[in-house]
Amino acid sequence: MSEWDKVIPKPKSRFYRIKCPDCGNEQFVFSHATTIVHCNVCGAILAEPSGGKTVVNGEVTAILD
Ligand SMILES: [Zn+2]
Repeated sequence: MSEWDKVIPKPKSRFYRIKCPDCGNEQFVFSHATTIVHCNVCGAILAEPSGGKTVVNGEVTAILD
């Protein structure tokens, strides 16, 4: 266990499977992402952080606990 693991609180977090609105690619995005998440295929923004919550720009097709 690293120092980093001890400092970071563990809120309930999930992974969202998000469908890219531009190219239809589906990829997993952490529900508490702290950086902008781009589509791996076309580079469109799929999710961006906003006050501790992630704003999703595509369609959420699945949620994994
Ligand atoms: Zn895309």
